[in-house]
Amino acid sequence: MPTVFVKPNDKKRQYSRVQHLSAIEMPAWLSFMAKAQGDSLIVDMEAEDLDEMGLILRLKDFAVDEVVLLATGSHPSAHIQQSEAADRLKKGVEAIFAVPVRVENRLYFDPTLMGVIPYDKLPVKLYRAHNWHSWGRPDRSYGVTFSSISCPFKCDFCCVKDFYHSDYRQRDPRLVVEDVKALVAKGVTNIKMMDELFAIDNKGTRAVCELLKAEGLGELINIWAYARIDTVSASLLKSLRGAGVRWLAYGIESGNEAIRAGTMKGKFTNAHVQSVIQMTKDHDISIVGNYMFGFWEDGIASMRETLDLAKALNCEYSNFYCMSVYPGSRLYDEMKSRGVALPLTSEEFAQMSPNFKPVPTKTLDGRFVMAFRDAAFNEYFRDPGYLAMMGARFGAKAVEEIKAMTSIEIR
Ligand code: SF4
Repeated sequence: MPTVFVKPNDKKRQYSRVQHLSAIEMPAWLSFMAKAQGDSLIVDMEAEDLDEMGLILRLKDFAVDEVVLLATGSHPSAHIQQSEAADRLKKGVEAIFAVPVRVENRLYFDPTLMGVIPYDKLPVKLYRAHNWHSWGRPDRSYGVTFSSISCPFKCDFCCVKDFYHSDYRQRDPRLVVEDVKALVAKGVTNIKMMDELFAIDNKGTRAVCELLKAEGLGELINIWAYARIDTVSASLLKSLRGAGVRWLAYGIESGNEAIRAGTMKGKFTNAHVQSVIQMTKDHDISIVGNYMFGFWEDGIASMRETLDLAKALNCEYSNFYCMSVYPGSRLYDEMKSRGVALPLTSEEFAQMSPNFKPVPTKTLDGRFVMAFRDAAFNEYFRDPGYLAMMGARFGAKAVEEIKAMTSIEIR
C-alpha cells in the first residue's frame, strides 16, 4: 500500500505565456523522500502536465495509503509559490481519496546523506531544459544532480539557509558522478548542478570536476551551475569546463557599484565583473547574467547603469528580475519595517504572472520598476550586436528562437 508523493503543477500560474521557455525540473528532494519511504510512488503533475482531474485518473487504480504533497521546489524562492499550490490541491485530494494528505514545505533531512538520486522513480523522459540551456544541443533532455546544499555566503535578499535549515554542506563527490552516469545512461546530457553555489574553489567542487573528467563525461555533457564573480579563477574555470560545465550563472545584480556593495553580494567593482566575464568566455563557458531592478536605493539612472552593464557584458543569456522580497531574508524584515506593502500570494510573487506585485524603491513605484524590467528584456535580446554574437556561437536556429521569444507579449 504505497505512499504517493505528488509534485503540484503550478506552471501555468507562474509562467503564464512563457511557460514553454522554462525548464521542467526533476524534483530531487521529493525523490529522496520517496526513496526513504520505500513503498512509494511519485506523481510529478508538472512533468506529466496534470491538473486535479488528471491526478485522480492517474491514481484511480492504486490503493493509496497516504498522499504527500511536496511544496518545495529546487530553489528556495519556490517555497511560497509551491506551498500555496500544494494547499490548493490538498483540499481536493483529501475529498476524493479519503486518505491522509500531508503538505511538506520544508526539508527535514540532510540530502547530502541520502545517497544517489533515485531517477528510476521519476519520469525522466518528461523533463525539459531551459530554452537557453539547450541552444546548440540536439535536444532539451534534462536532469539534475547536486554536490552541496545551502551556501557559505550571506546575501541580504537571499533566504537559502532558511530553506535548507542548514549551513553549507557538501556531498560525497563520487555520488555526484554516479548521478551523472545514471542520467547519461538514460539519454540525458543537459544537466543542472543544483548547488546554490557550485563554482567555488574548494575540495568538493574540484573533486567532482576531476572525477567527471576522468570518466570521460566532460565532452559529452552540458552542465549549468551557479557561480559568483568573486569565487572563480582561471584555474577553476579550466577545471569546470573540462568537467562539462558549459554554462555558469553569475549574480551580477546591479550595474551600480554602491548598490551592489550594499547587498553584501559584491564587494567587487564593474571592472572586476568585466574581467571575470571575459575570463569565463575565454574558457568557452557560456554565461547567464542575473540582474535585478528595484533595489531600495535604485532610481532610473542606476537601473539604466544595470542595463548598460548587461549590454556591455553581452552574455549569452540574461535574466532581468524585479527585486524579490521573500520571508526569511534580511531584506524582508527591512522592507516590513519601512511599511512597504509586500506580496502575499504565490501569483504576487511570480515574476511572469499577470498578478505579479513588484515592490517599490525609495523613489520609484513598483509598477515603474516592472515596466523598466520588461523594456530592458526587449532592448537586450533585440540588440543587433547580441544577436550577431549568438548567431556566431549557436547558429541561426538559436537566433530565430530568441526572436520568437521577444515577440511574446508579456501581460
Ligand atoms: S551567493 Fe547566492 S545562494 Fe549564496 S547567499 Fe548569496 S544569493 Fe544566496
